[in-house]
Amino acid sequence: MKNKKEKSTLKGLTITELQLLFKGIGEPKYRGEQVFNWMYNHLSTDFNEMLNLSKSLREKLSQQFSLQSLELITVQNSPNTGTKKYLFETNDNHKIESVVIPEKERNTLCISTQVGCPLDCKFCATGLMGYKRNLTAAEIVDQYLLAAKDYGKENITNIVYMGMGEPLLNFDTTLKTLSIFTSELNKGLSRNRITVSTAGIPGKIKQLADSGLRVKLALSLHSCFNDIRSKLMPVNNKYSVEEILDAIKYYSRITNTPIVFEYTMFNNLNDREEDIKALTKLCKQLSCKINVIPFNSIAHMSPGGISSLLEPTPMDKIVYFVNRLRENNITVMIRKTQGSDIAAACGQLAVKY
Ligand code: SAH
Repeated sequence: MKNKKEKSTLKGLTITELQLLFKGIGEPKYRGEQVFNWMYNHLSTDFNEMLNLSKSLREKLSQQFSLQSLELITVQNSPNTGTKKYLFETNDNHKIESVVIPEKERNTLCISTQVGCPLDCKFCATGLMGYKRNLTAAEIVDQYLLAAKDYGKENITNIVYMGMGEPLLNFDTTLKTLSIFTSELNKGLSRNRITVSTAGIPGKIKQLADSGLRVKLALSLHSCFNDIRSKLMPVNNKYSVEEILDAIKYYSRITNTPIVFEYTMFNNLNDREEDIKALTKLCKQLSCKINVIPFNSIAHMSPGGISSLLEPTPMDKIVYFVNRLRENNITVMIRKTQGSDIAAACGQLAVKY
């Protein structure tokens, strides 16, 4: 184990926590805002850059605290799409990944909330690697800060919590990072540019609704039918489609934001006539859109069991499926597979142990 973590890091602290910290060391409250600004807007990694603090305060801070959490190990570029994958290492030597996906009007950073994932979704590479631990707020925020340093802060316009892990199972920490990203003091990001994606944890979905943060919520739906969804996502044995959709409707009502349903397409499993009917019925009940995701290969994980049997729906069948939904006045997007050449596409994030 590397010995980098003796001092506690200020990264991942909210504005309120920073203000309290400075009060605690006999400094005025506005120092909290200044340091927030240096860390999250100027992407500072050294107290000496914080020129509006006195030299003696800068020295005091560097003796007691650090601004370090993750180390950037490698950056991989996808020559086909411009997608960039960042590999980071935590202080206890875990590896995590984040991806920047460039699109016409925006560049989206996809961040991880856990090392691995406990949910074991059968189509997901991260699920296959198992669960190691939750990430800290510092480690979640640092994925953004270090990617922004490389990519340009103003160039990263959107953040999606769709990398490794289930954000709602690292709930308090996820909430804390959302409050940092959506803070008025954090320039360039706002709640409607941030999406939390979940496999569906009803109690936590309701808690997120009640938090007042009003970020966008995406549900990894993949099937409206319990038997099929449970095969793909074991968590569905714990929380049924009905329970999850109840929570989703609550979220949509309380926050007044449209829901995104993610729908990864598996040949002959969730691309049938009855799936079109069930989705149509669902979408009549709330304001939403569907993101259809072509199934990305997870062959690099050499999976067994049902995982090895899953096949992508052929593109012409995806187009037919989508057109049928659109005829029913549903907003549907087909997510382009971005970065599969560098194993950076949806569900391909995993670090082999
Ligand atoms: N745990 C969260 C976030 C991580 S998964 C969630 O379940 O939403 C991010 C998205 O990628 C989810 O919609 C997931 O279902 C999808 N996904 C996972 N593996 C995939 C694969 N191999 N191909 C396509 N999409 C996949």
